[in-house]
Amino acid sequence: MSRFATKICLVTGASRGIGLAIATCLAEEGAHVITAQRGEAPGFESYQIDLTDTDAISSLITDIIAQHGRLDVLVNNAGIMPHAPLQDMALSDWHNTIALNLTTPFWLMSKALPHLSRVGGAIVNIGSIEGLGANAGHSAYCASKGGIHALTKSAAVDAGPLGVRVNAVAPGWINTDLNEAFINDMPDPAAFRADIAKIHPLGKTGEPSDVAGLVAFLASDDAAFITGQIITIDGGRLSRLPLP
Ligand code: NDP
Repeated sequence: MSRFATKICLVTGASRGIGLAIATCLAEEGAHVITAQRGEAPGFESYQIDLTDTDAISSLITDIIAQHGRLDVLVNNAGIMPHAPLQDMALSDWHNTIALNLTTPFWLMSKALPHLSRVGGAIVNIGSIEGLGANAGHSAYCASKGGIHALTKSAAVDAGPLGVRVNAVAPGWINTDLNEAFINDMPDPAAFRADIAKIHPLGKTGEPSDVAGLVAFLASDDAAFITGQIITIDGGRLSRLPLP
């Protein structure tokens, strides 16, 4: 398939994990993929920037248009997930999480929208099942992901008349460095790995490529009449009731 031939796609946070899988998937389908994160994303045109710097975001979009003349797809993927009970969470963790997970996508969408509008482009935001429910110690993260879900709907309403679609995916447990760090903080990481697999009706946790396929679908013309949606991708986790 080459659904993205001739398309210019910007993916944030593509140095590893879900973002790297999305960048790889889009490139395999013909896209020229541009990535933006603090580190490198080998194999892709990359901007090494801290995406909480709003001036850097404005320059990023200006530069992409200067270099490539167009932008077809924006994927807001970069994110962080600090852990601490509400009463112990540092205010700086709150601000940093809202900045990267919510303000950055808002500002990127704002700057990219006029250019996406010229080509009938699409935006896909990476939300979370933690925008729908909560794990302990994730107040900042849950607020940011609930926010990105609401922002997705609002952006879809504003962007629809401009010919741009905006959707979000809400992944459950996906095997990435972000979750590895979480598991390694557990008293018994091996037991936790077994337990987390069991709560999924599909009997396993997800892979970054699982999310990438859904993001590519939503970014493509195959989803031409889909906008303002939050699509859960969690191996059935949220569908299972806790007790019979
Ligand atoms: P990773 O921690 O593996 O990757 C995060 C990416 O974000 C990296 O490329 C990192 O690059 C980039 N990033 C972090 N901080 C900044 C910053 N200040 N400026 C620019 N880039 C930054 O995370 P995942 O792949 O697991 O998660 C990706 C997205 O998916 C996140 O939004 C996350 O909330 C979401 N998600 C993940 C789930 C999971 O189970 N893994 C479940 C649900 C949602 P660098 O360090 O080089 O800057």
